[in-house]
Amino acid sequence: MSLFGEVPQATPVAVFKLSNDFKDDPNPMKVNLGVGAYRTDEGQPWVLPVVKKVEKLIVADNRLNHEYLPILGLPEFRSSASKIALGEDSPAIQENRVGAVQCLGGTGALKMGAEFLRRWYNGNDNMKTPVYVSAPTWENHNSVFANAGFKDVRPYKYWDAEKRGLDLAGFLGDLETAPKHSIFVLHACAHNPTGTDPTHVEWMQVAEVMERRKLFVFFDSAYQGFASGCLDKDAWAVRYFVTQGFEMFCAQSFSKNFGLYNERVGNLTIVARDADNVRRVLSQMEKIVRVTWSNPPSQGARLVAITLNTAELFAEWKDNVKTMADRVLLMRASLQAKLQALGTPGTWDHITQQIGMFSFTGLNRVYTHTHTHTHTHLLSHHIRCCYCLLSVLLPGDSLYLYVQYQS
Ligand code: PLP
Repeated sequence: MSLFGEVPQATPVAVFKLSNDFKDDPNPMKVNLGVGAYRTDEGQPWVLPVVKKVEKLIVADNRLNHEYLPILGLPEFRSSASKIALGEDSPAIQENRVGAVQCLGGTGALKMGAEFLRRWYNGNDNMKTPVYVSAPTWENHNSVFANAGFKDVRPYKYWDAEKRGLDLAGFLGDLETAPKHSIFVLHACAHNPTGTDPTHVEWMQVAEVMERRKLFVFFDSAYQGFASGCLDKDAWAVRYFVTQGFEMFCAQSFSKNFGLYNERVGNLTIVARDADNVRRVLSQMEKIVRVTWSNPPSQGARLVAITLNTAELFAEWKDNVKTMADRVLLMRASLQAKLQALGTPGTWDHITQQIGMFSFTGLNRVYTHTHTHTHTHLLSHHIRCCYCLLSVLLPGDSLYLYVQYQS
């Protein structure tokens, strides 16, 4: 009997399982719509031209070495990453009350934030502090907070399936009734998986309730640039909350907007009342990092820092981001046009109204089987109403769609 004989088989992570099934399928007409990763017209990953350029600069720079970074990460990465979230002229940056922790991807930034909050936010019994995540949300939100020790991770109303849009009244209602000091995880832009963000006026309403009810703002910014093609526009909500005086966290991922998925580049931006609070928070963050990964990796952070801190490279990166965002918009328009041209029943305006990498198509399992099969000859293995639109193409004949199913 093995020492591990009692270990139960865990269920695979759905989106990675789907990618493996996809890889194993010999059908040339297959399309993977599951994973949130940008693809070219050829269905291939895209290394951003600016990334290739900066990689060469790094290789050529013989002053660089592989010494440990500071525990909190590369200083020029942390400050420039926070700057693109909060804006060049952010009052919080000018007032010296912003800090940052370099993290392993956006997931690492959420994890650091969650670990800190569980230790230091809202008094002694803080494991009971409710953490609210949108319904639906990126599946990992629930587990990251639960694994950090929070006992009460709950959904807040977000998506109205009937009208295929934001359930503003439900969202505001949940904010109104949440216990004081509850933590709310807010998608900064390009909500995953609905592709539906609050408007500016709706964000203002959200902020008003959160301020009045003393709720903690934890932004997750994994798609800055993907919603509109413009970094500043996509950071509007985060920056608005800062102008309203919130102390808050913002987890940033550079996986998507730099195409650096496997380099694990993330940043946790902390906005506090004053410099002294930032200093103490960072001192505790350092303790948490030390027992988690001890020290962050440098390659991706260096690459992002050089890009953000060099005017021409920064401009080129913004251009690359726009290329990706524009292609996503084009895919949306093409999908909508094709569905309409095929006379697919229903209305399809939501395909182009939604933004970012993800879309709730409104298709469900039965619908997809009956209607897409008969009307558009789509065959489907795993059907979900959420499609990642990066590589959508709808040829006239059979197409195997690999998509996640959400009941
Ligand atoms: N947050 C959201 C909403 C995401 O969709 C993702 C990735 O899919 C992440 C965070 C994590 O990104 P990373 O791969 O940088 O950990």
